[in-house]
Amino acid sequence: MDTRSRYLQEMGITQWVSRDAGFHSVPGIGVAQDLNTDESDLIQNDQLMADLLTQVETCRQCGLHRTRYTTVFGVGPIPANLMIVGEAPSAEDDRQGIPFVGRVGQLLASMLFSIGFKLEDVYIANALKCRPPDDRDPLAEELAHCNPFLLQQIERIQPKVILALGKVAVQSLLETNESPGQLRNSGQVRAVAGVPVIATYHPAYLLQSPAAKPESWKDLYRARQLLINGSSA
Ligand code: SF4
Repeated sequence: MDTRSRYLQEMGITQWVSRDAGFHSVPGIGVAQDLNTDESDLIQNDQLMADLLTQVETCRQCGLHRTRYTTVFGVGPIPANLMIVGEAPSAEDDRQGIPFVGRVGQLLASMLFSIGFKLEDVYIANALKCRPPDDRDPLAEELAHCNPFLLQQIERIQPKVILALGKVAVQSLLETNESPGQLRNSGQVRAVAGVPVIATYHPAYLLQSPAAKPESWKDLYRARQLLINGSSA
């Protein structure tokens, strides 16, 4: 069994493949090499991102600054065609200052690999930059305070598609009470700052509810189609 087949199996996807059919990774669809950005823009963008990082590291706009060990800003190439937005740092993320470490991160890597992406080609951030104590749900006021940081990240990363993982990410990005399932069933692709948002389950939920993996894979596939064709159909 090849690597991709193993990842598809992990995502609960049964493959029915004709002898001629192939599902290949698409070089460059993750890293934004095709963006028309010159070097001076990139340097300026780097500086803007560094300034934003400093703002986050010193932020005390909500009570979470009192309980965080560190801030978790985000990781990945700038610009990037695909941006992933999760909910909030886990305990391990809080210790390391990196989003999606541990089993959740491993599953996320598998999910991305199953649609032809590598983790390092994707920019990954959370709606909240500081961990809520005992991993409680983020409060609306905390999300409201942190949201401008996320919007500025999106502006600088210039993604073509955003994958929102879980209800909190969806609510923070789209300012809606709808769940990822409701958005999927509506058949609409909503956008933030002009960037289409595909909503799906958070990998932490998929670890507890593996039966939802095939549905999640369909969402990821829609994101891939949007990137390649500009349409999720
Ligand atoms: S969660 Fe966001 S708004 Fe709250 S202290 Fe951390 S960086 Fe600031």
